[in-house]
This record gives sequence, structure tokens and C-alpha cells, in this order.
Amino acid sequence: MMGERQVDQAALFYEFSIERHVPQDHLLRAIDRFVDLSEVRRDLAPFYSSTGRPSIDPELLIRMLLVGYCFGVRSERRLCEEVHLNLAYRWFCRLGLDGDVPDHSTFSKNRHGRFRDSDLLRKLFETVVRRCMAEGLVGGDGFAVDASLIRADANRQRSADGTDEVDWEELAATRRSVREYLDTLDDAAWGAASETRPKFVSRSDPAAQWTGAHKGHAFFAYATNYLIDLDHAVIVDVEPSRAIRQAEVGAARTMVERAQDRFGLWPERLAADSAYGSAEMLAWLVHDRGIEPHIPVFDKSARTDGTFSRSDFPYDHDRDLYTCPAGNELRPRQRVYRTSAPLVDDDGMMRYRASKFDCDACSLKPQCCPNAPARKIPRSIHEGARDMARDIAKTDAYTASRRERKKVEMLFAHLKRILRLDRLSLRGPCGARDEFLLAATAQNLRKLAKMVPAPSPIPA
Ligand code: SF4
Repeated sequence: MMGERQVDQAALFYEFSIERHVPQDHLLRAIDRFVDLSEVRRDLAPFYSSTGRPSIDPELLIRMLLVGYCFGVRSERRLCEEVHLNLAYRWFCRLGLDGDVPDHSTFSKNRHGRFRDSDLLRKLFETVVRRCMAEGLVGGDGFAVDASLIRADANRQRSADGTDEVDWEELAATRRSVREYLDTLDDAAWGAASETRPKFVSRSDPAAQWTGAHKGHAFFAYATNYLIDLDHAVIVDVEPSRAIRQAEVGAARTMVERAQDRFGLWPERLAADSAYGSAEMLAWLVHDRGIEPHIPVFDKSARTDGTFSRSDFPYDHDRDLYTCPAGNELRPRQRVYRTSAPLVDDDGMMRYRASKFDCDACSLKPQCCPNAPARKIPRSIHEGARDMARDIAKTDAYTASRRERKKVEMLFAHLKRILRLDRLSLRGPCGARDEFLLAATAQNLRKLAKMVPAPSPIPA
């Protein structure tokens, strides 16, 4: 039998509880257990005037932003509509049924002012990391680091050639992202990361890097850098940088240092791909931080022209010399001079030389140094750390680290596919930092919600 037609009847009174309406297994209920915003008002207090109209509650704005980043609602205008209509979102934001949802422009005003001045989003991220530690999700023994490119809100049509003269000061007067670009020109993670001129520079977001790293069409991008704990893939730190290798390696160092300073986390090993395997980075990990590098060594010494590679010359640590395939010795100096030149060249390399006398008489010379009087082997002053990384690469622990390193890549895939952060909505280094911090906070909150079971309800 067909049911009766629904008619629009406005009841005078409803008995409705938003608390009862949100399902017990809703993701927001699980996340809500771990959102501690008790410090937010205290941190922001110095940035509010004691007179004038009361502002929108900053805790409401943060809760709304968390909803947006946890559920991939990328537009703040749409986020306001969603929170207005969705009862679970209202419940999480403590809005009740008739609470007013703030206008989308409120986010922009607060973000550029109080939130950035008080470093609120980083404090929020660190509060969640501490909660992960308190729940036992961070082992602290093994970390992994990696970077991923996120498209910037910039396009090629409105960009300048890298060689064009652009009056950036004039643009900076009206564009915040250009002012941030100028302010970070000497910063190692940004302008000072490389002296190479990019092919194109965006006029709307000049700190974004023109990159063809994905092998397809080139685009403007920022890099988000994650340092994760390998136990449960909790993001221990996040840092934005230019989308070039030098900046990403610098960001990795910043994050390792900050994890030690802020959380007292001192990992025994760090897993990463070969982009982090430069001699300087390995030496920094081994000598300065005492961390085992589970990282492939960045090595360009292999030759492809049929002549002997450096690996054909075994190194003798005790005697500090290489032995060539003909059995002769290569030393930093073949003779003793009255005034000796420095052993280390400006590029941080020592050159071990064979004797010209040996090479002239050697039948292997065409396979060794056909165009030079004698063979030279360059050796970095950080070669000890590189050798250590090579030795680690032969162990089972390294194989396990290589496998576990994939957890960072899975977090990036989750970031782009589930949280839909494949393109930034904010511009400038500060905009990228805000978005990456909020996204990493959302990912850690989702992890807590999934890994830590809710306490069972107390029977009536
Ligand atoms: S050419 Fe010189 S360095 Fe090369 S194998 Fe012969 S003696 Fe050794």
C-alpha cells in the first residue's frame, strides 16, 4: 500500500537533541576526543583589543577549519555552507541548531592577522603530536622523511620569464604573496636555496617554483615536507619549502632539529630516498646528530664510457690510499713538497693521484685514464659518512627501512586523494605553511581516531 503523501507541517515544538542525532561511530566523534583547544584562547588573548565589538570565537574558526581539512572541503565559502547544513559539523563546532555560522571572509582576516602572529596553527599541530606521543603512537626510534609537490595557485599565463625585469617592490605594495617572497629571498628554504634562475616566475605567487619534476607538463608548485615516525606513520613535523632538492634537504634538517628541540625525539635511524643522500647531509646526520642514515648514497662516480669507475679502486682506511687495478697506490700526495698545497680543495674533495711514472708504463691505461697523464680519484671529506651509509645499505634493517619508507608516500597519497590537497588555495610561503600544517594536523587527528579505541559506554 502506498504511504500517505508527506505534507509540509510546521510543528510548534520539536524535541530534538543534536547530541543524540550524531551517530556514535561518526568520524567527528572519534576526532573530537583528541581536539584540545584549551590553549587557543590564552595564546590569542594578547592579539585582541579589550574594547570594541566581541569577535567571532577563535575556537569556532579552528574547529571549522579542522572539519574542512578532515573532510576535504577546500573552499572556505563552501565550508561555511556545509557547517550551516550538516548537523554533525554543527555538533563538532559547538554551534547547536541555531548558532550563526561566521562569514567566509572571517577566516581570511584572522589567518593573515592573529593566527599567523600567534603561530597558532603550529601550536595546534604540536598539541596533536604530543597527544599522539601520549597515546603511545610515536616510538621515536625510526623516522622517515620525504617531500611531495603540491600545485600552487598560480598559472603560466600570468607569469614572467625568469630573465624579465619585474618591479617586485611595486607588486609587493598590493600583493601579500609578493611581499612574503621578497622577505624570504635570503632564507635557505626559499630564495637562497638555489642561485639558478627559474624558467618562469609567477607574478601572483613568485615563491612558487616552476617545475617539471612530474615528467609531464611543468607547473608552479610548493613542496610539503613530512618527517614521520615509522611505528604508526604519525607526522612528527611538517615544513613547506621551494620545490627543489636543496630546499627539501634543508627542510629535512630543520624538522629533525625541531623534533629534538620540541619533543625530545632523537631517532636512531632516518630513512629517505637518494635525494637526501648527499655527502653533506649524510655527514650531518652521522657526525652532528648521531643518526644512522638509511639512505641510498648519492653517487655519480660510476663511469659509463668503459673506463674504470671509482668502485674499481679499493680504499685502505688504515693507510689512507686507494689501490688501482694494476696494484699501484693512489695517494693524496705522491711527493713531499717544501710548501705543500692544502689537501682539501675548495669543493670539499681530496684528490688521490697515481704516479705518472706508474701510469705511463701501465698496460691498463687505455681503460683507466686514456686522456690524462695519470689517474685521479676524488674523495669527499665526508666519505666516512658515505661509507657508513653504504655499509648500512647491506643490512636487513635497511631493507626493512626501505619498506617502511613507503608510509610517507602513502600519507602524501592520502593528502591528495582523500583530503584533496592537490592544489593550494592560499598563496605565498605563509599560505603554504598554513595549509600544510592544518592538513598534517587533520591527518594526525584521523590517525588518532582510527588507532585509539573509544572507551566503552558506562552501562546505565
Ligand atoms: S693507469 Fe695508472 S692508475 Fe690506472 S691502472 Fe694503470 S697504473 Fe693504475
